[in-house]
Amino acid sequence: MSKLYESSDYAGCSARGVNFYYGYEVTKCSKCRKVDNGDCEVTCPDADQEWCFEAKRDGKVVMTLSASELDCEMSDNMVAPLVTGIMKYIETCNPKNGEVK
Ligand SMILES: [Zn+2]
Repeated sequence: MSKLYESSDYAGCSARGVNFYYGYEVTKCSKCRKVDNGDCEVTCPDADQEWCFEAKRDGKVVMTLSASELDCEMSDNMVAPLVTGIMKYIETCNPKNGEVK
């Protein structure tokens, strides 16, 4: 069953074995572009750790886009960046097997 979940700092849903998430639990460094890299506190002290959209297919991460890469109007609404990420996923994934190019 597909179910949308939403809170003040994340939102997510899943469909056909693909899990979509946007929120604070996945971050990308604005300087080194590494995902969830705790070392950035030391190596990139001035960088933003941007919240990310993430698509996982059969448990494997296939797409991670930071808030600036999503290029979505940001607000308190977590569903807007989630939907924007899903649109980008649909635009770039192979419809036959769901793999991202
Ligand atoms: Zn960094």
